[in-house]
Amino acid sequence: MIGITSYGGYIPRLRLDRMSIYQAMGWFAPAIVMVAQGERSFCNWDEDALTMAVAASRDCLSGQDKRDIDGLFLCSTTLPFSDRLNAGVVKAALNLNDRLHASDFTSTLRAGTSGLVEALSAVRSGDRRRVLVTATDRRLTKTAYFYEMWFGDGAASLLVGETGVIAEYLGSYTVTYDFVDHYRGSPRLYDYMWEERWVRDLGYSRIIPEAVSGLFDKLSISMDDVDRFVFPCFFKAEHRNIAKKLGAPPEKVMDNLHDVCGETGAAHPLVMFVHALEEARPGDRILLAGFGQGCDALYFRVTDEILNLPARAGIKGSLARKKRTDNYAKFLKFRDLIQTEMGIRAEAPTQTAMTVLWRKRDMILGLVGGKCSRCGTPQFPRMDICVNPECRAVHTQEPYAFSSVPAHVKSFTGDLLAVSVDPPGIYGMVQFEGGGRFMADFTDCELSDLRVGQQVTMSFRRRYTDRERGFTGYFWKAVPLLEPKEEGAKQGEAVRFDDQVAVVTGAGAGLGRVYALELAKRGARVVVNDLGGARDGSGGGSASPADMVVEEIKAAGGEAVANYDSVATPEGGQAIVDAAIQAFGRIDILINNAGILRDKTLAKMEPENWKAVMDVHLNGAYHVTRPAFVKMRENRYGRIILTTSAAGLYGNFGQTNYSAAKMGLIGLMNTIKLEGDKHNIKINTIAPVAATRLTEDILPPDLLEKLKPEFVAPLVLYLCSERCPVNGAIYNAGMGYYNRAAIVTGPGTLIGKEGEIPSPEAIATNMAKIKSLKGAEEYPNATAAFGPMLDAFSPGKKAAGAETESKGLTVAGIFEGIPAAFQADRAAGVDVTFQFDISGGSGGSWYVTVKDGACEVAEGSHGSPTTTIKMGDDDFVKLITGELNAMNAFTGGKLRIEGDLMKSQLIEKLFKF
Ligand code: NAD
Repeated sequence: MIGITSYGGYIPRLRLDRMSIYQAMGWFAPAIVMVAQGERSFCNWDEDALTMAVAASRDCLSGQDKRDIDGLFLCSTTLPFSDRLNAGVVKAALNLNDRLHASDFTSTLRAGTSGLVEALSAVRSGDRRRVLVTATDRRLTKTAYFYEMWFGDGAASLLVGETGVIAEYLGSYTVTYDFVDHYRGSPRLYDYMWEERWVRDLGYSRIIPEAVSGLFDKLSISMDDVDRFVFPCFFKAEHRNIAKKLGAPPEKVMDNLHDVCGETGAAHPLVMFVHALEEARPGDRILLAGFGQGCDALYFRVTDEILNLPARAGIKGSLARKKRTDNYAKFLKFRDLIQTEMGIRAEAPTQTAMTVLWRKRDMILGLVGGKCSRCGTPQFPRMDICVNPECRAVHTQEPYAFSSVPAHVKSFTGDLLAVSVDPPGIYGMVQFEGGGRFMADFTDCELSDLRVGQQVTMSFRRRYTDRERGFTGYFWKAVPLLEPKEEGAKQGEAVRFDDQVAVVTGAGAGLGRVYALELAKRGARVVVNDLGGARDGSGGGSASPADMVVEEIKAAGGEAVANYDSVATPEGGQAIVDAAIQAFGRIDILINNAGILRDKTLAKMEPENWKAVMDVHLNGAYHVTRPAFVKMRENRYGRIILTTSAAGLYGNFGQTNYSAAKMGLIGLMNTIKLEGDKHNIKINTIAPVAATRLTEDILPPDLLEKLKPEFVAPLVLYLCSERCPVNGAIYNAGMGYYNRAAIVTGPGTLIGKEGEIPSPEAIATNMAKIKSLKGAEEYPNATAAFGPMLDAFSPGKKAAGAETESKGLTVAGIFEGIPAAFQADRAAGVDVTFQFDISGGSGGSWYVTVKDGACEVAEGSHGSPTTTIKMGDDDFVKLITGELNAMNAFTGGKLRIEGDLMKSQLIEKLFKF
């Protein structure tokens, strides 16, 4: 099967309010008011078609192995170089391999779809295995012009191949005409447009239907076989009419993103296509057409694989990350359409030495530094001597790409005297996780956005323009990772739930009622679930609490349905989710809120009371979340809230059942956060304090006054919203006070010599170190939490400067040496089989069985290994000799462990090399 294996998108963060163009220029061109609605995207001053192509491609390559990509097609009409392979710059920035075939596709708005057709043909013919297609455009227009309103900047990338296909390619059809609706004669900056009516009547509405009908005939299909029709056309009425002419009802036609972005030139068919893929479900059939001196029409069928694609920003994510402005002068300056006095400092020579650019190409364009093969210290730039003062090894630097390594701000400054298109110039020290730092420029931010410790990501940007010689220099800058909340909050944007469906359990009273009312007020359609039982869960239940809340929502103009099932059984949970699907067709938000109390001290806690509380709180959350999660995964979107309590997080006398259930929910969240992440499902937990039926006799009366449930709802609504960036966090909320609770782990200590079991007395002596939380960390998952343990025993942590033993060692040699390395005295009671699948020229498969104190090594694959270890041959040798740290290898993706992860730690104990 051939087709799309991954996608990515990039819309620059800046959006211009179209009305600001009219406000500035309406005196001159009053007619532009007709199209002055919504906003258009535009590049920051240091962005262009190349930088956007790199950004979209990095998004597309998230989670992908880049090594065997053997084609790169860059498609655009606004490439910065007429004679220098622009795709070559993108290739260098992405650190793709030198043996790939890179080409520029240009000179037509159809470049994006044509590049895609060529990539698909190349893979189908067997000439290429995996081709990255990236389409990008940043078109300039004269001011006070309709097209200034219609255009936007953006890029999209697609990876084409034959394994892991998310959208199967079923065929294409192309027509070519020298139809000149517009042109840009070289070396002009702006398009020359012909009369609109002619372009619409003879261009769009003849040529697109011709290509689409040709494809239908070729594949013997019709519009009935299409679920999504994707084609750009900024004439609104024409967009509708073309679809109608071809028999596509409005609901099949993909929105052309005019209101939120504008038309992104050669990139637009792919930008819209990526947007369609983001919403697609397995089985959906997508028709894509790209217009420009003819038309390409392509047909795809979405596969189940789309559900396995890791989460990425895509077009949806970059549309959400935005900064809206009405500063039209800034827009013009950023596009170099007005001249400002830049001062004498701006006259400093900017000539690029091509010799240096060639010699240091991986460093300048790919942000590749070095990592010492002796001690593992990364550094930028790469130099002959290791920066680690305890190592200082010479010529041990191996290439190390910093571009995707997480980093944070160590220091920063805003410099009003430095030359900058967007003063003040902001720069400072960026510290990379795992080591390495350097001075970087910051971009896509204001000075007030920055603080020490702020997370940043590296972004490929224009560094300078040498106007005299027509050369653009590129380098990497740091972009603060502002949470969408921060960006949205600045623009005062409302948190809305239009078109979304929310289920709130236990919503007939207390906190749940307030959540349901507030969600409905902000556009959500709500399923109000409540059993209507007594505070301790007893009684047959009553429909009235849920019905009353539904009435309240309807009276306020909202939409809601009632559901009376109990969360305490699997059938009840399923029925609650089914109610959402039946009434509204989907589920986007689930708030697990239902709750009861049966307080007793442990000694008096009968199994019945223990079980009743477990069934509603912990099992109840499982019963409802499971079917909801399945539906959310299909939609690749979801927000889930669990409700814990201070009683669980910190303990409360007389609430053993409740505390245990509430803390169990944290464990449930910790794993759902990992399983949902790639499907864009986020889960968070709220620990509320509010005056409700549950607390009326627990909290002092004067406090109850101040504890309106309404104070908890804002945080819950934010966590339920699309802009919520957090996943797997716990928040306390009450009385307008909000804070975060977390599980942290101290740094700990290694006691005794490596491999020796310490005595209880040694534990007592070291208790201060063991229990210290100084420097405590929060771990994203269980594997990361093992890191310090693995590191403590990792040979890679041995004194820097120790001689490596890797010389002459082979993978096969290591397995021959395993019986000698086996520590029989440590194998008592151990019964495991480790399967090693080592890839690469000297790799192979071996399995090692340890049982009854003996060790056996065999070549081949074991039928049911306890743990499987997968690595490349070189890395495996380095791991064994201590040149590669186990934890770094694991988190960096060089070491993959399947099966029983815990048992993999026995390897350190059982073998001594
Ligand atoms: P509440 O009693 O006012 O609301 C709980 C609702 O859940 C009730 O309307 C009840 O009928 C419903 N319910 C009970 N069992 C159900 C079942 N099996 N199926 C469906 N619905 C059921 O109490 P509240 O204070 O609003 O509690 C909401 C949540 O917040 C609970 O999970 C509670 O443990 C938690 N919580 C509350 C506080 C607080 O200060 N109020 C503190 C910590 C945690």
